Amino acid sequence: MAAHIFDGKALAQRIRVDIEKDVAILYEKTGVRPGLAAILVGDDPASAIYVRNKKMACDKAGLVAHEHRLSANTTQEELLALIQKINADPAIHGILVQLPLPPHIDNRVVLEAIAPHKDVDGFHPYNMGRLVEGDPVFVPCTPKGIMAMLDAIESSIEGAQAVVLGRSTIVGKPMALLLLHRHATVTICHSRTRDLSSVCRQADIVIAAIGKPHFITAEMIKKGAIVIDVGINRLDDGALVGDVDFESVKTQAGWLSPVPGGVGPMTIAMLLQNTLESAQRAVGWR
Ligand code: NDP
Repeated sequence: MAAHIFDGKALAQRIRVDIEKDVAILYEKTGVRPGLAAILVGDDPASAIYVRNKKMACDKAGLVAHEHRLSANTTQEELLALIQKINADPAIHGILVQLPLPPHIDNRVVLEAIAPHKDVDGFHPYNMGRLVEGDPVFVPCTPKGIMAMLDAIESSIEGAQAVVLGRSTIVGKPMALLLLHRHATVTICHSRTRDLSSVCRQADIVIAAIGKPHFITAEMIKKGAIVIDVGINRLDDGALVGDVDFESVKTQAGWLSPVPGGVGPMTIAMLLQNTLESAQRAVGWR
């Protein structure tokens, strides 16, 4: 039997409708609208599209998004000065710095400059530490969205064998922690993992976040497994594909998330949710 294809766009839309309602209630009772500042440095076209999509999603849900577009030769000091200014602005509840930054700017210094209580991407070491402890404030948007997908599937996470491919700070590691906190048995794979196929074949849940088109094939998947494709890869012909070989894996998996239309829309919905939660905290509702 072919896999169920997970409609991330539809779930994200349902979540966004709930967010819109909660934003309206917050505004009605307190006069506060959740504010998000998005900072884009340089002219990377993909980053520009991500920031534009995030702003459009904010506008639709009633959040206020402020875009700060800085030239590629912006100095680190100038960027840090802008972040300090936004940190102090009470109308802003969430700050995101779109990655990647130009090579002359140190990601780490910049991400650490964001006030932890406005760090809606959840990348600040304080928020990462809280996540490690199992008591998170902001959970990084992509892994948070994937947990919402797994819950929507009503998959049994407790006791499941989960394999996370990729160990980045923004996807792989927080993903593994979230699964661990829900009592999955988690294996994290990376570029040095030996016999990746046999590790993957043990998994009830596979999360692919490596950035290699069509890397995961049916032979690597246990019959009926849940396969979540995080990868976003642009092919030479312009097509957008994930890390999973969709056509072969759909014959083997129980559930499969497509690219596009799977994890991507969920990531944006979770950014809105984190910003709303931050504004609710600012008025003492949380
Ligand atoms: P990174 O490049 O930071 O990390 C990639 C990871 O994949 C690394 O841990 C790397 O291992 C591992 N890897 C690379 N090649 C292999 C291989 N052959 N076998 C096993 N592991 C391998 O990427 P990100 O985590 O930032 O992103 C991953 C993908 O997800 C990208 O395609 C990105 O565009 C996409 N993405 C999608 C989002 C969405 O909203 N849908 C959000 C964020 C990212 P090692 O550590 O050993 O180098």
